[in-house]
Amino acid sequence: MSFEVKEKDLLARIGKLKTKTVTVETPLLFPVINPSIQPIPPKRLKSEFGFDAVITNAYILWKRYQNKPIEQGLHKFLDFDGAVMTDSGAYQILVYGNVEVTQKEIVNYQEQIGSDIATILDIPTGWKITKDQATETVKETLHRAKEFFKTKKRDDILWVGPVQGGRHLDLVAKSAVEMSKLPFQIHALGSPTEIMESYRFDVLVDMIMTAKMNLPVERPLHLFGAGHPAMFSLAVALGCDLFDSAAYALYARENRYMTENGTWRLSELDYFPCQCPRCTGNKPKDILTQTAKEREVFLAEHNLHVCQAELNRIKQAIRDGRLWEHVEMRCHAHPALLSGLKKLKTYENFIAKHSPTVKRSGLFFFDSPDLSRPEIIQFNNRLSENYSPPEPNMVLLLVPQTRSKPFHKAREFQKIKHVLKGVNPEMSKNVHVCFYAAPFGVIPLELDEVYPLSQHEVALPLDKETTEYVAERVADYVKRSEYVAVVLLHDPANWNNTIKAALRKACLEKRLPFEHVNLNVKRQKTILTRLETILNKNPSE
Ligand SMILES: [Zn+2]
Repeated sequence: MSFEVKEKDLLARIGKLKTKTVTVETPLLFPVINPSIQPIPPKRLKSEFGFDAVITNAYILWKRYQNKPIEQGLHKFLDFDGAVMTDSGAYQILVYGNVEVTQKEIVNYQEQIGSDIATILDIPTGWKITKDQATETVKETLHRAKEFFKTKKRDDILWVGPVQGGRHLDLVAKSAVEMSKLPFQIHALGSPTEIMESYRFDVLVDMIMTAKMNLPVERPLHLFGAGHPAMFSLAVALGCDLFDSAAYALYARENRYMTENGTWRLSELDYFPCQCPRCTGNKPKDILTQTAKEREVFLAEHNLHVCQAELNRIKQAIRDGRLWEHVEMRCHAHPALLSGLKKLKTYENFIAKHSPTVKRSGLFFFDSPDLSRPEIIQFNNRLSENYSPPEPNMVLLLVPQTRSKPFHKAREFQKIKHVLKGVNPEMSKNVHVCFYAAPFGVIPLELDEVYPLSQHEVALPLDKETTEYVAERVADYVKRSEYVAVVLLHDPANWNNTIKAALRKACLEKRLPFEHVNLNVKRQKTILTRLETILNKNPSE
C-alpha cells in the first residue's frame, strides 16, 4: 500500500504517501502551477515554502507545450524535484464545456511525461445543473474510469478516481460506491469549488461525508479546488488528505490577502496580521505603492505561507488530539463555516466510530455544537451498551458535577460522602452515586477517573441545548437501568428545572419512587439532614 497512516484524530490523519519520486506527508497541499503565468518558480515552492508537491494541468501542458514535457520529463520541465500531480482537463470542461482531447490521449500523455499522481478525464458535475445532467456526469465518469483500466500502461503512477455528483448526495454515494470497486490508489471529490465560493460549507460537509462513508477508508481522499486556509481544518477533520490551491495565485492577482480566518483586500488593511517572511517589516500601504507584478508576487508568497502555517497547525492539532478545538476556532470565523460545523451532528456516529478513543489531551467543551464530539458519543455508547450498576436493586443518588475533577475528590462531594457514612449501613451500601455532568450526561462515581471524564473543561453557564442533552441522557439512563428509587440533589442555579423535570417524567414512566433535595437552601446542614432522612427511610419503600 502506498499510503500509511501515522496519527489520527477525528477522521483526520497524518500519513505517508509514497509516490515514485518521493514520499510526502499528508495532509498535503499541492499549489497549482501554471507554467506560462507562474508567479513563483516551483523550485522555490519547495526550498523556501516547504511544499513537497505541486499540481499542474496536463491538458494545458499538452495544448501549449506538447512534446517538450515528454522529452525533458515533467520534473525537469517544471524544475521541481518533489511529487508532481497532474489534473486532466476536467476543470477546463467545467469552465469551457469541453476539451479537444480524448481520455486515452490525456492518460497516455500523463504516463509519457511521468506524473507521480495522475487523473483520468472525469466529467465534473458542477453546481448549477439539473439532476438529469448530474446523473449523466456520474455515469460518464464511471464509464471512463472502467475504460481507463483497459488502456493504462504504467503501474508506478498513483491514479486518481474522481467522485462526482455535486450536491446530489445520492449520486455522490453511488459514484463513490462504484469508484471504490476499481483499483484506484487515490480518490478525489470533484467540483466543490463553486460550493465553497458560494459559502455553502454545510453542503460541502454533506458532500465530503457522503463520499467518505462510501469510499475505502485506507485510500487517501483529495478535495479538488479547496484552497482557502479558513476551511482546511474542517475538511481535514472529515478525512480529506490532499488539497490543491490555485487560490493563492488567483487571490494575489486580485489584490486579496488570505488569512486563516478569511480574506482581506490589500487596500482594506492598515496592519499585516502575519509574521511570515514577506509581511515582517512591511506595511500594507508600502505594498500598495509597488507595481502590480511586485504586489502579485508579494501576495502569492504571503498566501502560500499562510496556507503552509495553517497546515502545520492542523498537523500539530492532530498529534495533540485537539483537532476539534482547532476546527471549532476556525469555524467561528464566519457563520457559513459554523453552519458547516453544526452539520457534523448528522454524521456524529460515523465520526465517533472512526475516531481514536484515547488521546494524550483532555477536551474543552464550549457549547452545544460540541455535543457531536466523538468523545461524548463514544462514552454514551459505551455506557448504554456495556455498563450496569454495581449491584441490582440499588437506590440511585444523582449528584451535580463539581467544579474540580475527579468529582469524587472534590470538596463539595466530601460532605455528601459524610452524609452517606451517617446513613444506616444496610441502606448506605445500597446507594449508588452517579454525577450528572455536562457534557457527558451520567457519570457513575466509580468511573469518574476514566478518560476523558476527568480530563475536560466546561464553559459555564451551560447553554439550553447542553442542559437538555444532559437531562435526556439522565432520563435514558434511569429508564434502562434497574434501580428501585431515584434521589436527586437538585441544583437549580446551574440546571434550572431541566434535570428534575426529565427525571420526574422518567420515574413516573417506570413507576419508580422519586425524591429530590434542593441545593439552593441557605443552610447546608438542612440539605444534608434532609438527604440523610430520605436515605434512612429507604425511598423505595
Ligand atoms: Zn504574511
